[in-house]
Amino acid sequence: MLKFDIEKKNGLARVGVIHTPHGDIKTPAFVGAATRATVKALTMKEMRELGSQAILANTYHLILAPGSDLIAEAGGLAEFSSWHGPTFTDSGGFQIFSLPDVKITENGAKFKSHINGDKFEMTPESSMQDQWKIGADVHMAFDHLAKSESYDDMKIAMERTHRWLDRCIAEHKRLLGESKGQNAFLEDHKPGRAPLSVSEKKAFDLYSCQEQYLYAVVQGGTFNDLRAESAQYCAGKDVDGFGIGGVFTADGMDEMLQTVNSILPEEKPRHLLGMGQEPIDLFVGAEYGCDTFDCVGPTRMARNGSLYTLDGRINIKNAKFKHDYSPVMEDCDCECCKNYTRAYLHHLFKTDEITAKVLASIHNEHFIVHTVDKIRESLLNDTFSEYKKEFLTRYYHD
Ligand SMILES: [Zn+2]
Repeated sequence: MLKFDIEKKNGLARVGVIHTPHGDIKTPAFVGAATRATVKALTMKEMRELGSQAILANTYHLILAPGSDLIAEAGGLAEFSSWHGPTFTDSGGFQIFSLPDVKITENGAKFKSHINGDKFEMTPESSMQDQWKIGADVHMAFDHLAKSESYDDMKIAMERTHRWLDRCIAEHKRLLGESKGQNAFLEDHKPGRAPLSVSEKKAFDLYSCQEQYLYAVVQGGTFNDLRAESAQYCAGKDVDGFGIGGVFTADGMDEMLQTVNSILPEEKPRHLLGMGQEPIDLFVGAEYGCDTFDCVGPTRMARNGSLYTLDGRINIKNAKFKHDYSPVMEDCDCECCKNYTRAYLHHLFKTDEITAKVLASIHNEHFIVHTVDKIRESLLNDTFSEYKKEFLTRYYHD
């Protein structure tokens, strides 16, 4: 079982530490979105320096390129990407069900690669196998995204997600047993066995160095009765933690999280999938019992020149920044704000320099990671309500 220590509780909110085979995550924490095993425009060194504790890659994107076998051969996601810290993979369900010509059956989803048209089929079993090869510390169960937001479609998707969860758990357990068997085999055959090839050695190392953990994914859209049903179903399963999926807007999120997280067992970690572009999502998420978050929003906005400040977002391409020699944000100790001015960033964006995207991404990712770190701090010293009010009033002033 994935080890999770809760240091402090306040209502549903909690401060804790998730102990993964690749290191600890102090929660609440924002996890960097490394969809294709890279955070767009940032190196892993930059991610470490800006204070990121963990990354989340996407199974759908990685099976299309470079393929899960190659990542296994390279020693797993942490080794391949040189992140060397805690890692998560999302199952890819969300991306697959968003494809235009996906065919869904009870068995799984058939789709064509958006890169070269190659045909793929992903099932709960194949998603688990691919995630094991990719080798992240935490895997998400393969879930079914509803085809519309209607109650009936949400219910169908939720029920199938539950049936698929059972198949994911069975396959995860099989792989867990297999990896333990492989380790035993390796131990037994050490003296007389011919030396392992490089790829065999890496595959064995991958399996032997760590356990891998599975989160169930709670569905149910905006319907609280479905959310409650899904949380109840997932809560009873032998999994290491929970992803909360299918949340797209902060409207009603507090009530939904209150429902879900009051049902889920307290002692297991919870990840709010794909939320964190808006700071309010992170405050609400933490307040109502979520431990980790991920979102591509902060770096995506950065690449468009939209930068966080404590007074709200600014668009650095705006003419008013042409002669502005202040940093993007006063008192920000990121690499960008410590060394460069708004005028310089404005110039880099206007001339379409690659560095513009790098510096902007460093700042935005740093801003969100540290906002969550400060939420953690405020929960620890009982100032969360004050911090939330002060932050949100200033940030969303209009
Ligand atoms: Zn900054």
